[in-house]
Amino acid sequence: MIVRKSRAEIEKMRRAGQVVADVHKELRDKVRPGMSTLELDQMAEARIRKAGALPTFKGYRVGNEVFPASLCISINEEVVHGIPSRDRILQEGDIVSIDGGATLDGYVGDSAVTLPVGEITEDLKLLLERTRLSLYEAIAKCFPDNRIGDVSHAVEAYVRPYGYGVVEDYCGHGVGRRLHEEPQVPNIGIPGTGRRLKSGWCIAIEPMVNLGTHETEALSDGWTVVTADGRASAHFEHSIAITDDGPLILTSRGDDPEGPWTLGTSPMV
Ligand code: MG
Ligand code: MG
Repeated sequence: MIVRKSRAEIEKMRRAGQVVADVHKELRDKVRPGMSTLELDQMAEARIRKAGALPTFKGYRVGNEVFPASLCISINEEVVHGIPSRDRILQEGDIVSIDGGATLDGYVGDSAVTLPVGEITEDLKLLLERTRLSLYEAIAKCFPDNRIGDVSHAVEAYVRPYGYGVVEDYCGHGVGRRLHEEPQVPNIGIPGTGRRLKSGWCIAIEPMVNLGTHETEALSDGWTVVTADGRASAHFEHSIAITDDGPLILTSRGDDPEGPWTLGTSPMV
């Protein structure tokens, strides 16, 4: 069942989303070579709790596995779900994907960015920028009566011409009182297929795009997902609400390119 949120609930979702946005704004300024991923996680947890929210990922269960941290931090060939550690030190030239969730007043915000650590190669810069923009291509499809396939197709249509691999094993999702709700939001799809979007749906759209193959493998820690060929992967995610006016970016950091979401934002703030 796909839960439709009222305007009041969407406003709560936006507040939760803004806690995550604030975490990303802080970490964007702090990331540098020599830091451990645990340090980033501790900063994020402190900020989330100071806002009166809870770190949604901490204690999140999949089967028998319990996620131990507030952020998933995935470096270079790690796609998603990397576990922060004092032994993982960021190096000049790395890219680091930071995925965070916060629960405020019973509602969840979920958002990810991939950041450069110091100077990175031109190939990596392009991977990051194109993956980031593919997210907005998808968000631009988030109007009532469009279909999930339109959203999914927008991601792959944007990045495939560059020869990138689009991860299929993991995907976006509905978000609300729980981190993962229906529907699934893949990053590949066929336009005009799938469920029709409805005003009041809240979904997390999260392109995961690889320099090489789309294929992934899970590591033996039970969480970390890596590319099968060891080449780099980027991940960008926003939680959005579908409104009659268009998409509202709940986790916006205020740095979105111009687009229809600007319209969706105006009545809410
Ligand atoms: Mg996420
Ligand atoms: Mg997500």
